[in-house]
Amino acid sequence: MNQPVPFFQFRDFPAGMQQQVEQTLVETARKAHYILGPEVQQFEQEFGQFLGGAETVMGVGNGYDALVICLKALGIGPGDEVIVPSNGYRATVNAVLQAGATPVLAEPDALTYNMTAEGARKVITSSTKALLPVHLYGQACEMEPLLDLAKAQQLFVIEDAAQAHGAAYKGKQAGTFGHCNAFSFYPTKNLGALGDGGAVVTADEELAAFVRMYRNYGERHKYQSEVVGVNSRLDELQAAVLRVKLWWLEQLNAERQRLAGVYLQKLQGTGDLLLPVTAKDCSHCYHIFCIRTSYRDQLQQWLTEQGVQTAIHYPVPVHLQAAYRFLNFRQGDFPVAEELAATSLSLPLFPGLREEEQARVVQAVKQFFESI
Ligand SMILES: *Cc1c(COP(=O)(O)O)cnc(C)c1O
Repeated sequence: MNQPVPFFQFRDFPAGMQQQVEQTLVETARKAHYILGPEVQQFEQEFGQFLGGAETVMGVGNGYDALVICLKALGIGPGDEVIVPSNGYRATVNAVLQAGATPVLAEPDALTYNMTAEGARKVITSSTKALLPVHLYGQACEMEPLLDLAKAQQLFVIEDAAQAHGAAYKGKQAGTFGHCNAFSFYPTKNLGALGDGGAVVTADEELAAFVRMYRNYGERHKYQSEVVGVNSRLDELQAAVLRVKLWWLEQLNAERQRLAGVYLQKLQGTGDLLLPVTAKDCSHCYHIFCIRTSYRDQLQQWLTEQGVQTAIHYPVPVHLQAAYRFLNFRQGDFPVAEELAATSLSLPLFPGLREEEQARVVQAVKQFFESI
């Protein structure tokens, strides 16, 4: 039997990148400047350029910290409500809770899976302080209506761009619309380190000054604290790796888009499949290629038997997870999120996925729908 098609695997794509990464690790280690050194500084500048040049980028420990620090920088805490998506990953909900604020869930668009102004408007109260849209699976949210709503209601906007390095709305990069925005460089993200990493992005100099202090124990000058901060710094070695991968990011995203294009073409009209829909003015960098079917569990089992690994993003919505029982949600509270959790399946898509592997995925999916 053939080797299984992995859901995700680190491969040397484009060929030679792995060697560049290893080389920079050795060189950076030999420079022996391990904390907040020149690699972090240069990466912050280069990522800022990538995002269009108007933003300040500050490397932090991970994407979760980036979200918490954004909330702290905006002064959001106890008594404040922050609107987050009812679907997707739990990091946003946890970050809001860690800041001491209350997460309020908004149902997403049923086709793009992203937060909409319509969905958010329904759950705004007098305590709402911020909107926290997530550019889910790599597709940029439709930002203009969200920004208009935030302006009208005097709310902050915090983007979670952890899955969307390089996605854009009307040509402007995801992560550059909100007051203060978060990126993750978790290894499997479109721009990934060889360990944890994250960044806070803002165009506001005051917020930037706060974040720079807060991530490093609140220090403005050595041993002089202006705020009670934390230790959440981007590691120097990871920054060096990220500089190499940032150089390739557009090519890596283009390959993801090419692979997505193949799936979209070959799987169109297959069974009851709902394929990813990209909204007008939004671009999609396909961090995840999520398909939907009412036969999700059977299809996943079939694909496993055929040697095709898949994943479910995400099987249980936040409001039905044991950890969040204290928020008093019930089954049926968020029907769109529940439907998405029950029907979503992610197919293998990563830079370096081979043509014959993708062909096997397509063939196995088609066979399943021919057999039922
Ligand atoms: C990965 C991810 C995070 C968290 O990033 P970490 O670096 O793992 O802390 C937050 N939000 C979203 C949408 C993510 O995909």
